[in-house]
Amino acid sequence: PFCRSLFTAAFGLAGRRRLPCHHALISSGAGGQAETEKTTAPTAMLRHLLLKLRATGPVTVAEYMREALTNPGQGYYTRGGGIGESGDFVTSPEISQIFGELIGIWYISEWIAMGKPKAFQLVELGPGRGTLTDDILRVFNQLASLLSKCDVSIHLVEVSPKLSKTQALILTGGKVQSNPEDSSAYMKAVSKTGIPIFWYRDIQDVPPGYSFYLAHEFFDALPIHKFQRTEKGWREVLVDADPEVPDQLRFVLSPSSTPATENFIQPEERRDHVEVCPEAGVIIQRLACRIEKDGGAALVADYGHDGTKMDTFRGFRNHKPHDVLKAPGTADLTADVDFSYLRKMIQGRTATLGPIKQREFLKNMGIDLRLQVLLQNSHDTQTREQLLHSYDMLMNPEKMGDCFNFFALLPHHRLLHPDKKHKPESKAPVAPVAGFDELLLK
Ligand code: SAH
Repeated sequence: PFCRSLFTAAFGLAGRRRLPCHHALISSGAGGQAETEKTTAPTAMLRHLLLKLRATGPVTVAEYMREALTNPGQGYYTRGGGIGESGDFVTSPEISQIFGELIGIWYISEWIAMGKPKAFQLVELGPGRGTLTDDILRVFNQLASLLSKCDVSIHLVEVSPKLSKTQALILTGGKVQSNPEDSSAYMKAVSKTGIPIFWYRDIQDVPPGYSFYLAHEFFDALPIHKFQRTEKGWREVLVDADPEVPDQLRFVLSPSSTPATENFIQPEERRDHVEVCPEAGVIIQRLACRIEKDGGAALVADYGHDGTKMDTFRGFRNHKPHDVLKAPGTADLTADVDFSYLRKMIQGRTATLGPIKQREFLKNMGIDLRLQVLLQNSHDTQTREQLLHSYDMLMNPEKMGDCFNFFALLPHHRLLHPDKKHKPESKAPVAPVAGFDELLLK
């Protein structure tokens, strides 16, 4: 099948991503700076929140989470976020180059299946350190002859000025133009491989056009509302100053129902505790509208569930669980993505596939084959061990293999055989969607 030849073409040169020390250098620089800030920042953010709570009363968990993560001065991501081994949490693209490479292959295989449109934008939401896009661009570069007639551009949606600088450094070597006059972007540059890159704060600023969207560990960082079932009905969980302990926050329940309880809880809800992320709903709806209108596809990868889990709000600091109410601004706060909610918000504008488990998706994408090539081409024990270890991290059901999911948005016509429109009785299969179809690489 074509996917195998794509695979061979992309990985014929078996390139390793980077020298290990390069990675270490960048992260220790950013991490070191974050460490010094961590000693003074928590009090500033906490003081700001306590003043606000005393003045105007408790806030929703969503408002608390938004402040803690993206407050323009002291937010966790605004200050750089602690992604990577020296930080607070590590993500799949940071663990292994194979992850981004397989995602790069996914986009190319969809581009082929959709008839090789003359141009596409790759739009990544929340690109972190930029590693995932960098790995994808390496695959695009490897397949340059296939893409030679296609006008490719990269569009990054990032709120953190610090992280956008890190992304620019990794993707371009650091040469950027700020506030370009000729576009809606706040920053513009050209990748090491010669592809234009643009930065935006909001998906709405990204120009329309045929686009492939990517959101890896993005939706879990968006603010959630939390609700608790009580004898008197649904109540919203709020964050307040603890009157008994100075400088401490606590959870309280709203005394009566709030507009959010009225709007977000379904009458048929069975759970006793529910988390809803309206911002995720708005963003997925925008992606669905754009795909419906201009074409393309979206790949969402995150930990999550299908409307079954209850309390998933948690914090991470130095790779350890962290009390979500302690030292806001110094720890990553996150909640599982509710894929059933995303599907509902898409309102049938596009078709959806998944969620399927990360280990199934990566297996279907040929991770075993890619690992073999890299192993055959690495001659020192340390590299081989590192490759096997990172494969285990991504695939082991007890590690990231089972809890991370892949979910795709595709135009309806992508899953409808052209013959079917005219001959509904046609049995001819449509081109399988890579990753979601296990037969592809067999
Ligand atoms: N995708 C990356 C990083 C995940 S961390 C990886 O997998 O390694 C979450 C990312 O989303 C960070 O880049 C953070 O700054 C960004 N982010 C968080 N909230 C955002 C928002 N509301 N709009 C845009 N980006 C946001």
